[in-house]
Amino acid sequence: MMQIYRPLNFIGFVYREIRQGLTDIENMFELLDKDAEIKDKPDAKPLEVSGPVLKFNDVKFHYDPDREILKGVSFEVPAGKTIAVVGPSGAGKSTISRLIYRFYDAIEGSVEIDGQDVRDVTQKSLRASVGMVPQDTVLFNDTIAYNIRYGRPEATDEEVREAAKLAQISDFIDGLPQGFDTPVGERGLKLSGGEKQRVAIARTILKSPPILILDEATSALDTQTEREIQSALDHVSQNRTTLVIAHRLSTVINADEIIVLRAGEIAERGNHEALLALDGLYAQMWNRQREVDEAGEKLRLARETD
Ligand code: ADP
Ligand code: MG
Repeated sequence: MMQIYRPLNFIGFVYREIRQGLTDIENMFELLDKDAEIKDKPDAKPLEVSGPVLKFNDVKFHYDPDREILKGVSFEVPAGKTIAVVGPSGAGKSTISRLIYRFYDAIEGSVEIDGQDVRDVTQKSLRASVGMVPQDTVLFNDTIAYNIRYGRPEATDEEVREAAKLAQISDFIDGLPQGFDTPVGERGLKLSGGEKQRVAIARTILKSPPILILDEATSALDTQTEREIQSALDHVSQNRTTLVIAHRLSTVINADEIIVLRAGEIAERGNHEALLALDGLYAQMWNRQREVDEAGEKLRLARETD
């Protein structure tokens, strides 16, 4: 049974990787425009953002009709505020980010930005207003400077460098033989997951969008680097409408509201203190993570004294 199961699983995995690897390459959809499943309506208008407020109205979604992924999700990110989505793996967190960016459309309910249904606006204007640091970043086969500047093509070298610095990647780049002109991607220097994440963060810092989506943006980084980048991310998210999807709960303590998603439904919501007091799923996740962190810290100290 396992023998049959594995290859099928593997194909599903590769398919998902390809599909989701596209999530940060806004351009890819333009390249593939003719085949893209999501099309602009003939009368699509440019998105107009003022605040902006991001709203999910009773959103239901599935990839396969026999398996519901989001089962009626409603929440609002007020203008300039930060809302966090946490929950077990497979709960549907990344799916939420994909619906905002319109890699897929809601099947029931709606996603709105400043009162405009994202399905009614042009994808170009939507993607200009939304900056996303995805879980897995795919880089263009071009220089590292190109990959960062993609966030804002007219940015000066100085601005590219500054964004790299804030994303804690400039020392690494300066250490490369060709510095910012080093070719990266599949046909160039292969970067580690953490390095790619930092390039994506630099790109988003440079883009400086009114709406920010961080999907486990620092998950591939060690604790120290994560801490350093966190301050840069806190800085960009200030006064910006931000949705943070997080696996490490320490990064969401200060969110204005934390939404706990479980199996496609909002199980709990509130701020950090309220959720701890509730003593439910969030409190459980928090305590488990503290134990893991403490064990890790003990291990680190033991190694240092060796
Ligand atoms: P999370 O980010 O919370 O870990 P996701 O939103 O990525 O969860 O996925 C939610 C569920 O949807 C998972 O069970 C996942 O396997 C499934 N899923 C994700 N992408 C696809 C896809 N392209 N096709 C079919 N199922 C998918
Ligand atoms: Mg995810």
